[in-house]
Amino acid sequence: STHTLFHATEQDDVAGIYRPRQAFGHKGTYGSVLLVGGSYGKIGAMVLATKAALRAGAGTATALVPSCGYPVMQTAVPEAMCMISGIDVLNNIEYNDRYTVGIGPGMGTAAETTAALTAYLAACRRPAVLDADALNILAAQPELLSQLPKGSVITPHPKEFARLFGENTNSMVQVDNARMQAMRYNINIVLKGRYTAVINTDGECRYNTTGNAGMATAGSGDVLTGIITGLMAQGYEPYHAALLGVYLHGAAGDAAAATRSEESMIAGDIVEGLGIAYKNLA
Ligand code: AMP
Ligand code: MG
Repeated sequence: STHTLFHATEQDDVAGIYRPRQAFGHKGTYGSVLLVGGSYGKIGAMVLATKAALRAGAGTATALVPSCGYPVMQTAVPEAMCMISGIDVLNNIEYNDRYTVGIGPGMGTAAETTAALTAYLAACRRPAVLDADALNILAAQPELLSQLPKGSVITPHPKEFARLFGENTNSMVQVDNARMQAMRYNINIVLKGRYTAVINTDGECRYNTTGNAGMATAGSGDVLTGIITGLMAQGYEPYHAALLGVYLHGAAGDAAAATRSEESMIAGDIVEGLGIAYKNLA
């Protein structure tokens, strides 16, 4: 196979993708996000993802969580709406086509949740963002991969990628494998790491260079899921949402590290860093 040339995402590339807010825009202009996930003990992942979608600029955000998460979401993210299904784990993914959907943070892989995701994939048409336990469910039921809506974005870290598509001898071979899988399934793949690879449905790959080791902290990936979903809701096509989202996520992490240090920053600080990340784009 051919070796991937190292194409870095530059500030110019993302500045070209970025579309400033319209003076007469209203919340309907900026789309409605539905984040799906959470389970008993892992509602925090949904708090982070939902806040991140709003901070990324989505017009409205709704969290779909099991009922144990309802008071948590309504208290921690008062700007978001909340819908419930199931008690401790999600057992149904009720949605409406007006939503841009992100699935997986803290979701767990219970049998009823697996059934809910299977039914969702059979019914949905719009590209979605899938991360974390949504990917672990896909890894356990690989036949679901071909059900993913065309142009969807999956955001595996290297271990999730290996569960989905097998082990590779090194990260270069893994990226080549990811390019092949992106073309095969018509999806965008965000292979996360120090230099996150963002791969489109043609197998084109760009490496992100923003971010730092302070982002190696629980919940970091959930923030990215919220950001990419929030950008897609605003009308960015999925590949552009992935490129811009990964860049902003890293830049927000850099802003967090600048004020808090790499050691002490936590995932919520990445959400708070989005303001500076956006300011530095323009
Ligand atoms: P997750 O493992 O799903 O929580 O995702 C971790 C997120 O943090 C990904 O977006 C990674 O790219 C990012 N991240 C983790 N460690 C580093 C690092 N050493 N340098 C840059 N980004 C990192
Ligand atoms: Mg993760």
